Amino acid sequence: MTNIAIIGDEQSGRTSLGSKLGKKGTDSDITLFNDDRHEQKYVYIDAKSYPKSMKSIVAALNLSDMAILCITPNGLTPIVGECVVALDLLGFKRGIIAITKSDTSYAMEIDAFKETLKKVTAGTVLENWEVVSLNTNKDAPNAFEGIDELKEQIHKLGADIEAEQRTKDDLPPRVVIDHFFNVTGIGIVILGKVLQGTIHTHDKIGLYPVDKKVDIRSIQTHDVDVKETGTGSRVGLGLKGLLERELERGFLLSNSELIASDFEIECTLSKFTKGGVKLDDVLHLFVGLQSDPVRVKKITVGGTEKDKLNAGETGILKLEGGKKIAYSKEDVFLFASLEENQRFTATGKVV
Ligand code: GDP
Ligand code: MG
Repeated sequence: MTNIAIIGDEQSGRTSLGSKLGKKGTDSDITLFNDDRHEQKYVYIDAKSYPKSMKSIVAALNLSDMAILCITPNGLTPIVGECVVALDLLGFKRGIIAITKSDTSYAMEIDAFKETLKKVTAGTVLENWEVVSLNTNKDAPNAFEGIDELKEQIHKLGADIEAEQRTKDDLPPRVVIDHFFNVTGIGIVILGKVLQGTIHTHDKIGLYPVDKKVDIRSIQTHDVDVKETGTGSRVGLGLKGLLERELERGFLLSNSELIASDFEIECTLSKFTKGGVKLDDVLHLFVGLQSDPVRVKKITVGGTEKDKLNAGETGILKLEGGKKIAYSKEDVFLFASLEENQRFTATGKVV
């Protein structure tokens, strides 16, 4: 299964594109569009509440294997810059740039825009992404131009993603929870993504950071009951042994996770983080779909204590948070600062 984030600025045609590519499913601050028509399944995740909500884009990206960045022909806004920074910080190697609303522009203008985009993305993970210009306007003379080309690119990347997923089926299972509810007669149902490994019905698995065991009663993928499913699947799981109030978005089903609320993280600041990071600053920490504001208690650069980490610099931040977070040593922590023009400021891993 290939999970594809659709991101970009407001009014960039994200939702129109999602509805063209799949059938609308789960809808909260992200909207899922499913395409089950092929042997290979696709799920599109529209970061609907972004740019207002950072959580929306972080959720969409963390649930996805690739991204589509939507930009209109005259839409190179600061928010697009922020999307590029987020993709670069998270090391999103696979994706496509969609120049949307191609019916509102001219071929020459779009070609010039492609050149501009090349300059903007040079040196970032996006520099080798394919660029496709398209529209979803059924009344335009060139109605749906580019949609087939986009699908072709998605299917090509999807084949690589699928192959990579199969190499992870034997790893210890890890499922991230993005939605959950109580269903009369069934109990707790969670929706989420198998990040790695394979899960089976009747597995007993840990719920983190709660740190208790739950039973997997049933598994559904694309509304079909299955006995087991592997890496990359979007799933609905019937769970036994927990209460709805014990759950939060971002919690993990896994057999081994670290749990902490304070962290020491080796961080590299984005070169666009103008103000840097100072002692006592409050940053928004994201790991997977969990988030928490954390306070900077100590900054160390090359073994020396400092009161500031500058743009582009790498150092160790000691951070104090307010709630338990489940994570693993390989997880990428993403930081945002609401005072910055480009709010995503840094990434790092636990030291
Ligand atoms: P979002 O805010 O990024 O989700 O953008 P929407 O998909 O909601 O689109 C914003 C507006 O642009 C809506 O009024 C759409 O009807 C319109 N729109 C979206 N795609 C196209 C397109 O390809 N061509 C034209 N002409 N209008 C579009
Ligand atoms: Mg929308």
